[in-house]
Amino acid sequence: MSYLPKGTPVPQPTPDDQAYWDFCARRELRFQRCKACGRFRHPPMPACFNCGSMETEWAQVPGTGTVFSYTIVHHAAHPAVKPAVPYNIVVVHLDEADDVRIVSNVIDVAPEDIAVGLRVTLAWDEIEGGMFLPRFRKA
Ligand code: ZN
Repeated sequence: MSYLPKGTPVPQPTPDDQAYWDFCARRELRFQRCKACGRFRHPPMPACFNCGSMETEWAQVPGTGTVFSYTIVHHAAHPAVKPAVPYNIVVVHLDEADDVRIVSNVIDVAPEDIAVGLRVTLAWDEIEGGMFLPRFRKA
């Protein structure tokens, strides 16, 4: 069962991030990494924010990190998520991709147990349409 209820809006891939979602569907967490300067970037975009190069590769990362920031949602922003409140939204700073911070959720944890600095590890969550979202659980 997905972290958020059926009917929750799902990502709508664009030409810039289609590859990211395709890797997620294979349960591979990969981020763009500049082939010229080596910097990771996310969300996906055509050119490197650091050096401007358009040469990129998709580097796989294991998916461990720390909670950089978080909030506990008490008021549903969409009717479909109303049964899930209170739920968390976190920003995870990944160990292996220093420039990457992704917005996600920590599953299987009480709201009062979320904290900045909490160690987390990747937990794939299948959502509607056969997509997989990178969520996290306590490490
Ligand atoms: Zn670069």
